[in-house]
Amino acid sequence: MRHLSRLAAFTLALAGCNYFSGADDIELSTEATTGGSAAPAYLPADGVSLASVAIYQGVERIVAKDGAGVAEGVPIVAGRDALVRLFYAVNADYDKEPVIARLFLDDGEPLEVTAPLGAGSTLDVLTSTLNFDVPGERVTTTTSFRAEILQAAAKTTGDNAAAVFPAEGTHPLYATSAGPSLKLVLVPIAYGADGSGRLPDTSPEQLERYRNTFYKLYPTPAVDVRVVEQPLVWNAPVLANFSGWQDLLNAMIDVRKNGGAKHEEFWYGVFSPSATFESYCGGGCVAGLSLLGDDPNQAWLRAGIGLGFTGEGVTMTAVHEIGHEHGRNHAPCGTNQGLDLAFPTQGAILDAWGFDLIARTLVAKDTNKDFMSYCGPAWITAYTYSALLSRLQTVNAAAMASRVSGARGGGERARSGAPHAESYERIGVGADGTLTWLAPLELDEPARGEQLDATVTSDAGDEPVTAQYFPYSHGGGGLLLVPRGEAKARAVGSRFGRIGR
Ligand SMILES: [Zn+2]
Repeated sequence: MRHLSRLAAFTLALAGCNYFSGADDIELSTEATTGGSAAPAYLPADGVSLASVAIYQGVERIVAKDGAGVAEGVPIVAGRDALVRLFYAVNADYDKEPVIARLFLDDGEPLEVTAPLGAGSTLDVLTSTLNFDVPGERVTTTTSFRAEILQAAAKTTGDNAAAVFPAEGTHPLYATSAGPSLKLVLVPIAYGADGSGRLPDTSPEQLERYRNTFYKLYPTPAVDVRVVEQPLVWNAPVLANFSGWQDLLNAMIDVRKNGGAKHEEFWYGVFSPSATFESYCGGGCVAGLSLLGDDPNQAWLRAGIGLGFTGEGVTMTAVHEIGHEHGRNHAPCGTNQGLDLAFPTQGAILDAWGFDLIARTLVAKDTNKDFMSYCGPAWITAYTYSALLSRLQTVNAAAMASRVSGARGGGERARSGAPHAESYERIGVGADGTLTWLAPLELDEPARGEQLDATVTSDAGDEPVTAQYFPYSHGGGGLLLVPRGEAKARAVGSRFGRIGR
């Protein structure tokens, strides 16, 4: 009944949200059935030891080693598909006959693999381990597992405790909920600066590339990709050298704000400023831009832009930019801008092996780089994966809480019981220090970025105010928000200098 009571507690807290994927699988009984009847047909194989059990949902997580559970490591995400590898060693007592490996998950039918064993398992050879493809619905926040390497009872003594884990019963997976999905909203931008009105690629094939790229790298059970019907028409040049990017990003912020965005949605405008990536980019280019913010409750920051050509290059740009929308700074390779000073590895190399759930291949630790850097080949560190999960949990939980509390509409305004518009002068800060007036910004909550002192000059005189600064992900500039008063601001001064109108 332990499972039932825990489930009941969560269900009360999050009524009607179906927040915990796969919760329906939980049964009332907690007695692990290990396939045994009175006279089991299979028993632990002689001469075989189960060295470790590792689970891969993108990044390796060891859950058991040398007969003991491992509690620390990258989180396991409930509802997300997984590969489970059993690492083994053999000695002279192994008869070289095939074994039956079983993976029990709760009380369901075990997953089963039959194979002869080799000399032993190595991390970098996928076929050297006993592997199970685990569908996401079998990984819940209460799931426990048991792994066994068996042979027919007639062929083994049955007393080799090293061939099973745990020695008795099951061991918890400690999976955590990320919420139901990552919600990506693509805004097609009709690019008119060259007279073409060219639209980005939002074909079903390209949307599948976005979905797969996010799915294999982000700690989520599912990726929802939605395309906004009405394109944003944009007739100003947006060039490889960063010219025009700031204006388009700020237009996207307004599109998100006025487009009925839900709190947890990550909006991303895509555009093709040339016929091909090669003709746009030449020897180097800006490929995406977004804002950085530490506060997950600032939903308006979940807006970015990037190239919208065909292929996986732009989907990798998208995971990087949406990483910024999750508050991630740059991993240290190929750029010195906006570096994450806490990043755990030199040169943004991985801190753990990976597994690509789409391509079904291992990703080597020492030769791949975190996608929050500018280097490749790109994968994800346990560090970034964990941080994305933490942000996603916060964002999805806040969205869920607002709907459970009965707020109507589900939009951002619904989050703060009494809507209270905050109005700001919006000033673009260029990389070269150039200040630009942009359209005023109305937010449903006070802006919370880096606080700095500013002075607003109006017909009423000079007034000291606290402004908020949000750096851009690239290019070195950012956005300065200054509270608007009764009188129209004639000028604003801050550490970035003074701008008048
Ligand atoms: Zn970046």
